[in-house]
Amino acid sequence: MINDRDANKIVEIITRFARKHSLWVVAYGTGCGAIEVPPTMTSRYDAERFGIRGAATPRQADVLLITGYLSVKTLKRVIRTYEQMQDPKYVIGFGSCTINGGMYWDSYNTIKVLDDYLPVDVYINGCMPRPESVISGFIKLQELIAAGKAEGAEKYKKNLDWYRTNQKKVIKNWKMPDYNW
Ligand code: SF4
Repeated sequence: MINDRDANKIVEIITRFARKHSLWVVAYGTGCGAIEVPPTMTSRYDAERFGIRGAATPRQADVLLITGYLSVKTLKRVIRTYEQMQDPKYVIGFGSCTINGGMYWDSYNTIKVLDDYLPVDVYINGCMPRPESVISGFIKLQELIAAGKAEGAEKYKKNLDWYRTNQKKVIKNWKMPDYNW
């Protein structure tokens, strides 16, 4: 006979298993790294065998894939896209530019550290990362989901004021509706 606690645990394990094998991705082609997304998704590397596939809209997506440097102008759209996604949701920063600005580190119009503006669950390093690296980044995300450690969305909610302050510091013409959690 299993008690409620054990039953909940089993449900949680099954839920995480389903989640990690059903990652619908909205890929925001912000930088040159975006060119590696089509080969990752198509027959040669076939990301769908891991349960990774494209989503038609942010509201249907689980993963926001930021594929490279982000201009301030694009950041605004990316924030709006992220906030329209439903929970559970995850962010992958793709390429050196999302980690530290990469080769645009001293550009006047790009952000340097994506994690200051959106909660990044996994970074994929490289300039540009090859499809093998992209898939390995997704597998890392799957491991975090299975372990219940992909907590970026929770972090975002808890620290929304901090994120908003950072976002509004660089986006001068904010004028976006406040997200309704
Ligand atoms: S990391 Fe390299 S490939 Fe990716 S956006 Fe930056 S410059 Fe382009």
